[in-house]
Amino acid sequence: MYDFLIVGAGLFGAVIANKLNSAGKKILLIEKRNHIAGNIYTEFKNNIHVHKYGAHIFHTNYKNVWDFVNNFSEFNRYTHTVLANFNGEIYSLPFNMFTFNKMWGVNTPEEAQNKINEQIKNSGIDQPKNLEEQAIKLVGHDIYNKLIKGYTEKQWGRDCKNLPAEIIKRLPVRFIYDTNYYNAKFQGIPINGYTAMIEKMLNGIEVKLNCDFLNNKNDFMNIAHNIIFTGPIDSFFNFELGQLEYRTLKFEEEFLNINNFQGHSVINYTDKNTPFTRIIEHKHFLPELKSDNTIITREYSLKWNPGDEPYYPVNDEKNNNLHEKYKLLAQNLKNIFFGGRLGEYKYYDMDQVIFNALNMADKFIYN
Ligand code: FAD
Ligand code: UDP
Repeated sequence: MYDFLIVGAGLFGAVIANKLNSAGKKILLIEKRNHIAGNIYTEFKNNIHVHKYGAHIFHTNYKNVWDFVNNFSEFNRYTHTVLANFNGEIYSLPFNMFTFNKMWGVNTPEEAQNKINEQIKNSGIDQPKNLEEQAIKLVGHDIYNKLIKGYTEKQWGRDCKNLPAEIIKRLPVRFIYDTNYYNAKFQGIPINGYTAMIEKMLNGIEVKLNCDFLNNKNDFMNIAHNIIFTGPIDSFFNFELGQLEYRTLKFEEEFLNINNFQGHSVINYTDKNTPFTRIIEHKHFLPELKSDNTIITREYSLKWNPGDEPYYPVNDEKNNNLHEKYKLLAQNLKNIFFGGRLGEYKYYDMDQVIFNALNMADKFIYN
């Protein structure tokens, strides 16, 4: 008997496995893919760490989370900035004075604020009810039309009027010339890639790859005193209350025999007609590493069908209500716990996932 069976070798599974193992618990970690690290998996090729499941930038305000990850990797001083390409016009993201200057030719915060206020007034929006109204309330309709509407509708496959306002609140709006994508005290990229960081977390822990919990659920339920499940919560219950919705992604990777393709790590294509949402040029995350060639990835956001990889939970009212019902089922189970982006059905960043995993581990260790 194991003390814990942990399902999923992504970030949540790896963090909690590490903490429980350090506390002397006997652990088995199983993963259905053929590699560890879940969606933060990086592959090292041509002296470039390739983010196989999309760009991952570590950022956090939690000191304990930052201290924790630094036990397993050194981080560089990378600060994420994003460019938007709207039909060939380049804008700075998140929304800041450089964006406002390019959009309207304004130079001061007062001029920018006046322009936005004028557009909000014309829109007549007071209490935003959806993403479109929230976006216009934040930055006015010019920015909404060029930098938000097309990108968001490609990303989520829905009209902005049918999306929750919260999604757009992830992006800062700043009336200073500051292009940092995040408001975070700590930020960087692990210098040996995320996979090496997770490998170090899992040092000394029994891990089985290519092993799907759901294929042998009955056997697995009886080999451990506790189970921590980090896959989709609805899949654990065999979708008995219905299916939660996700968005899936397609990554098109290309090796290029040139030194520098786009001059930046991430460029978003914010028009509606370009079929992909963004292009990542991986080498720019770790400029310390030199390479004569480059690797880029075009990212496409697609409708999710059962069997596809679930990348983004769609946290609208309908799905959140269904998730609440699954949570009730979960609470009635003894010794089975759910964690991570899929287990909790929340649009979490890495640091929130680690924060929650550390808290769950503490409960097991100290209660
Ligand atoms: P996952 O990484 O999904 O791990 C779950 C694991 O469980 C997977 O490996 C899966 O294969 C396995 N599994 C599922 N079901 C089973 C089963 N039945 N049996 C066995 N194994 C199973 N966060 C940031 O902080 N910064 C960023 O820049 C950032 N960029 C992102 C970009 C993209 C495109 C995406 C999709 C996410 C991004 N995130 C970012 C979020 C980040 O990826 C997640 O917060 C984090 O990886 C979640 O870790 P997790 O362990 O919860 O989930
Ligand atoms: N967004 C946008 N234009 C952009 C980038 C983001 O409208 O160029 C919106 C979009 O709705 C997206 C949300 O802001 O889903 C959050 O963006 P973020 O970069 O945090 O998304 P992620 O990296 O998690 O996909």
